[in-house]
Amino acid sequence: MNRDALVSLFCELVQIDSLSKHEAAFASVIEDKLADLGLDITDDGAALRIVGDCGNLICRIPATADGFPAIMINTHLDTVGDDTGIQPVVENDEIHSAGDTILGADAKAGIVIILSALQALDDQELPHGELVVVFTVAEEIGLIGAQHLDYEMLEPLPQMAYVLDGSVTPGQMVTQAPYSDKISFEVRGKAAHAGVEPEAGINAIKIAAQAISEMKLGRLDDESTANIGTIQGGSATNIVPEVTTFKGEARSHQEEKLIRQTRHMCQKVEEAAAQAGAQANITTERSYNGFALGLDEEVVRRGIAAAEQVGLKPNLHKGGGGSDANIFNEHGIPSVIIATGAHKPHTPDELLCIPSMLKCCEWLLAIVTT
Ligand code: CA
Repeated sequence: MNRDALVSLFCELVQIDSLSKHEAAFASVIEDKLADLGLDITDDGAALRIVGDCGNLICRIPATADGFPAIMINTHLDTVGDDTGIQPVVENDEIHSAGDTILGADAKAGIVIILSALQALDDQELPHGELVVVFTVAEEIGLIGAQHLDYEMLEPLPQMAYVLDGSVTPGQMVTQAPYSDKISFEVRGKAAHAGVEPEAGINAIKIAAQAISEMKLGRLDDESTANIGTIQGGSATNIVPEVTTFKGEARSHQEEKLIRQTRHMCQKVEEAAAQAGAQANITTERSYNGFALGLDEEVVRRGIAAAEQVGLKPNLHKGGGGSDANIFNEHGIPSVIIATGAHKPHTPDELLCIPSMLKCCEWLLAIVTT
């Protein structure tokens, strides 16, 4: 793999903005790159379903030899948050952003790895099975592209998938990920003049504060977490606040524990509201289901064998977050996340380790050709 070409491709891609649901301009650049390799790409039409400007891109590459499984390779087109105008700076073996923005290595390092592996397959005429390359949209705002992917277009379903959306060390595979719920709370009390007749009011902020202070939050055990992440309420200091809304989430690698934690958070709000004569309106929603893949799964064994083949130490990891792999697993495609060489994603300190990215290219190539 040519280091300079990969670095220059990466720098080109991170300079094209691709915010969630606004990936169209960036997607057309990726389509051109694939067309240069003689590949056709299909948009699955998810833009309409998610109200974005671009659907998920699907590219089917026929097998060139027998005896290989059909493998899906995926990463996402969007970058996290609302940072635009990203300027990459190459310094020795690292790339970081020039300003106070993210770098966008999450997941553009993954895109570079995929494109370079496809280029190598073509240049070296390497034998491989059917490949289904899927670039999803709107991953960073809740795996929305993967949830609205037209799975019929993937039929017959690939036997396994590798999602290039991991950070850190080459050789690391996320084979387990948590279940997650999101919860929206509304406490409805009663407004009153805070100075004239506070007795007539029911303070929604106070109820929320009491409920939240009684919740088990943070790291609950070695496989479960919970958080209250946003809160709004009240309109003026001289009005007893009528309404407070707040949102939270819970995650666990064990579904029963997640269900218990979600119920606990809801109960604390219901109890505090009832005690004060207020009303609690709560909606809970499953964000994604977890997965746990072991050595009995071909996707795991193949990942390990390919890592060893290119001199990497395979390392199976229990992830703490959700990714498109959660959704693909739900749809019956055994999927793991593999590393890309990106560090500190979702922060202005994000950086890409160039030698790690190169190693991940070799790894991906070994996965599809071994
Ligand atoms: Ca990501």
